[in-house]
This record gives sequence, structure tokens and C-alpha cells, in this order.
Amino acid sequence: MEFQVAVISGDGIGPEIVREARKVLDQVGRVFGHTFHYEELLMGGASIDVHGIPLTDETVAKAKAADAVLMGSIGGDTTTSPWYQLPPDRRPEAGLLKIRKELKLFANVRPAYLYAELKNACPLREEIIGEGFDMVIMRELTGGLYFGARSTGEENGMLVARDSLVYSEEEIRRIAIRAFDIARKRRNKVTSVDKANVLDSSRLWRKVVEEVAADYPDVKLEHMLVDNCAMQLVKDPGQFDVILTENMFGDILSDEASMVTGSIGMLSSASLNETRFGLYEPSHGSAPDIAGQDLANPIATILSAAMMLRYSFDLDKEADSVEAAVKQVLADGYRTGDIYSEGCIKVGTVQMGDEIARRICR
Ligand code: NAD
Repeated sequence: MEFQVAVISGDGIGPEIVREARKVLDQVGRVFGHTFHYEELLMGGASIDVHGIPLTDETVAKAKAADAVLMGSIGGDTTTSPWYQLPPDRRPEAGLLKIRKELKLFANVRPAYLYAELKNACPLREEIIGEGFDMVIMRELTGGLYFGARSTGEENGMLVARDSLVYSEEEIRRIAIRAFDIARKRRNKVTSVDKANVLDSSRLWRKVVEEVAADYPDVKLEHMLVDNCAMQLVKDPGQFDVILTENMFGDILSDEASMVTGSIGMLSSASLNETRFGLYEPSHGSAPDIAGQDLANPIATILSAAMMLRYSFDLDKEADSVEAAVKQVLADGYRTGDIYSEGCIKVGTVQMGDEIARRICR
């Protein structure tokens, strides 16, 4: 099969890590008989340098026309880069917010997986880690508190600030459907996280999630209050498969879940809309401190490319082969500097990409 991939390499380590992800995708193409066509697009600082703005309408149109977007990372050193002397709406990050909005990416999927070989990077105790953990956080990305009406004004001689947390039935239903679909590709369990003991929006959330669950009798649904979920993530992370939650709860819980894995260079993510289209990028930033030195860990980006194969192209076997190759490389002792421990083989960005590509097999 043939696929059109829009590629936003971005800034800092972006071009280095995306190059390795493309290397792995091309190897998947050779082994499984697919062709990936790439179109390089500018966003963030790289776009500011050429066009004066972080994202042009032409770039948005090209991204929309592709089957999926593979991204590195955007942004520079926020204290020294001239990009941060610009007004906020012309800075690199404004491009990211705009593209998410333009592409209607309402569902953010972030896996948190603990590799047996990287157990010592996990801040949790051995007996809590147990057999390890493998979950995804499914966060609603375009509604809730961050997008509701807000105001600050004086009332009765005192400043008062208001933020509103609004969710419609439709916004909840579409992300719940996504979560149940993803659970079906995994271990068939959804934990829906809310604050239904207090919030009306959470009570509606729970009702709609239950309606959706009725169409997925093979997927187990449980509800959990957000405060309990924050505790359970560090007490018994192995219990989770798919965590489904609204925007702000997801913002906090996804960072907590990634921290318990202990290795930022390993964490992939996907932002999806109602179609099969998605934008795939590592969870980390552009790491300007190590850019251009062959030091960056490309695995988060390579695993993001695997998510693209699975969720946008429905190529599960191919995605499995990438994830298996990453596991094998770790088992064989290869490590970039960020995940290195004594006795392992230290490699740079390029060699890590080579080692993973070499292990892609049917
Ligand atoms: P960062 O994630 O870029 O870096 C934090 C630390 O982790 C640094 O020490 C860095 O060297 C290290 N690190 C990150 N990724 C790594 C990798 N793949 N391999 C090895 N080490 C890695 O976060 P930051 O320093 O706060 O931000 C730098 C820039 O990235 C800023 O401009 C920020 O706005 C931007 N940013 C972009 C995105 C995005 O594009 N989605 C997300 C977060 C931050």
C-alpha cells in the first residue's frame, strides 16, 4: 500500500529524530511491501526563519491533504532564542496550537510503558512495579476548562476570576468511542476518570461513557475518581489499560504517568480527529541543549511512527514489528546517553536508528 506522510521535522533535535523514524518506516516498507511518500513541511522556529510566522495556511492545507503527520518537535531555548522575542502569537508554540485546532485533533493518546530493561529508571519501588505496566492515557484535547469562557473582574470591591468547564454530549461521545476502539486493540479495559461526586460535567461524562460502553460488551469499563486515579498511578500502575479522561485531568495524569516510566526519550504520542488522520510526535520537546550532537534518543519518535502505522494506517502487524524491534534493541544492550546504565553499549541517534531498522522483521 502507499501512504502520504506530511513530515514536520521542526527545531532542535527534531530533524535528527525524525530522520531516524523515517529510516525505520522505510525499512517497514521494504519488509512488508508498502511505500511511504514524505512531504517536508515547515513549522515552529524553522517556519519563522523562512516565512516570519510559525505556521502558514499553505502548510496547514498540505498537512490536511496527507494521510497523517509525523512530527519531531518545535521550539528553541526559551531564554536565548530570538524566536521568543516575538509576540506570543508569532512564537514557535503558536504553530502547534494552530495546527491542532485546524486539524480538529480532539483526542490525545499517550502510552506509558515500562520496559523491563529500563526498570531502574522508574522511580517506583520494585514491589510496586511488579510485572511492569503498559497503559495509554486518552485525553480530550479541545474542550473543558481550557476552552470554556473565562473572565476576571471586580465584584463587590474584590477581584474575582472565573473559568468554565463545559462539555457537550457529542464531545464526550466521540472521545469515548476512540478510547473503546483503542482498548479493543489492547487489553479490552477502559478506566474512565472523572469527578462525578462533585461536577455536573463529570456526571454527564459518566452517563455518555456508559452509553458508549453498551456498544462494546467485550470491553470492561470501570469508573474512577480523579483523586483516586492520581494515587493508583503510583500505587498500582499495572491495573490500567486505557485511561479515558477530560482535558485538564488528562493534562495532569498523562504527565504523572510518563514520569513513572522514568525516561522522557521513550514516550510517544498521537493526536487524533474523527477520521483516521492523526498527528504523531514524541512527548518531549526539542531539547536545544543537545541538538546537532548525535545525542538525542530517537525512540519516542520511532514509537510515534509505530502509532501512526497502527491508528492511521491500520497496519497492526507492522506497528508490532517496530515495537518488537525497539524491545530487542534494548534487550541487546543498546542505549543512548539519556537511558544509559553501566554495562550497556552507548550509541548515538544515528546508530540507534540503524539498530532498530535492522531488527524490523515479519
Ligand atoms: P525538552 O523535553 O526539550 O528537554 C528536557 C530535557 O530532556 C533536556 O535536558 C533534554 O536534553 C532532554 N531530552 C528531551 N528529549 C530527549 C531525547 N529525545 N533524548 C535525550 N534527551 C532528551 O523540554 P524543554 O527543555 O523544557 O523544552 C525545550 C523546547 O521544546 C522549548 O522551546 C519548548 O517550548 C519545546 N517543547 C516543544 C514541544 C512540542 O513540540 N510538542 C513539547 C515540549 C516542549
